Amino acid sequence: MSDHNPESLIIVEAKRILFEAEAAVLENSAVLVDGETILAVDTPDKLMNMSNRSIPRIHLGDLTLLPGMIDCHVHLGYEEAQDRRSLMEGSTQQALLTALMLYNARKLLRTGVTTIRELGSSGQLGSTVRAVISKGWSPGPRVLAANEPLTTTGGHAWFLGGECDSVEEIRKAVRNRHKSGADLVKIMVTGGGLTSGSVPWLAQFSQQEVDTAVEEASRLGMPVAAHVHGTEGIAIAVNSGVTTLEHCTWMGEGGRIGNHLDTDVVQEIVDRGIFVCPTASSRWGTMDSERRDSKIRTVAIMHEAGVRLIAGTDAGIEHVPHDSYAQGLSWLQRCGMSTLDVLAAATSNAAESCGIANITGTLAVGKVADMIAVTGDPREDLEVLSKPVWVMARGKQVLDHNLVIFRPQL
Ligand SMILES: [Zn+2]
Repeated sequence: MSDHNPESLIIVEAKRILFEAEAAVLENSAVLVDGETILAVDTPDKLMNMSNRSIPRIHLGDLTLLPGMIDCHVHLGYEEAQDRRSLMEGSTQQALLTALMLYNARKLLRTGVTTIRELGSSGQLGSTVRAVISKGWSPGPRVLAANEPLTTTGGHAWFLGGECDSVEEIRKAVRNRHKSGADLVKIMVTGGGLTSGSVPWLAQFSQQEVDTAVEEASRLGMPVAAHVHGTEGIAIAVNSGVTTLEHCTWMGEGGRIGNHLDTDVVQEIVDRGIFVCPTASSRWGTMDSERRDSKIRTVAIMHEAGVRLIAGTDAGIEHVPHDSYAQGLSWLQRCGMSTLDVLAAATSNAAESCGIANITGTLAVGKVADMIAVTGDPREDLEVLSKPVWVMARGKQVLDHNLVIFRPQL
């Protein structure tokens, strides 16, 4: 311990610690944090002896400590209450949008989400907001930013600024994302419901175009998240070897969810280890029951086939406020996933899908201290995740009321 600055050490102890979704809960354990990194895990007494000095301790009492949660699909720059028209017009007001994005980032953090994938915002605001948060100027989760999604001229979410229409333009667009500091590439392989004139069940890009995006992204070390609804677009994205499939509703003509589910393509998703983010969210609670049941059935089929599902809410779209993450988890459970499956989808599997399993998603020595504490046991009742009592992101405590960040007193 001698080479560690005592000022940066802190011990966090709790009645129960769930180090990772699939591990057993340990009773009366503790985590020693140095700056933003987990330095050791053991009993509180052993950690005190190891450090051989009086360092601050946070007693979480009768709470369960677990890894911070990950929302794999967020739009910080959308305002849930906004109508479609003002969303498109609002995309030109960059300063206002930046403020909105930081406001929404705070909301996510307060609900225990310590990492997000920002899957589409205007221009380069995603990576700008990531920089503001990582400099410590404003509280928020770790941001993996896609910046403006690749789409066709007038295609889904064109108003974010990512129009490109040929193999050459796609290659250039991917290089531009890399140049602007995006962490990953988002591509709208099919149309989407948010954009008037866009048809969700039809593919927007050809196989060759999506192949180019994936090849170029992989050359630059960037994962690819593919927005897909219709089966043709899903098959194209899977063939190209994208990293994650967003929504993946197997939509048939007229927008019927699950109508064109292709079991061969589902098997291909499993074989290639492609993650699916079905964007289960609070919005499901507002749908008519037929549509909702189709969603549940479709996700259940993928889950039973062995598809690795990850949690992401599409926060920012209608009926999905940025503080409703846990509602998405309960919808995943209603798709036949066990509470452990859902916890993995929200933590370890989500981290793996984002390429950051070496940093976060579990509580282990050497990883970043992203952790939350909840009352009760989330393995028995996921509902407890909707109200985290305590949140630590990158080694900093976040209090739930005013988001005051402080270093504990000795
Ligand atoms: Zn989205």
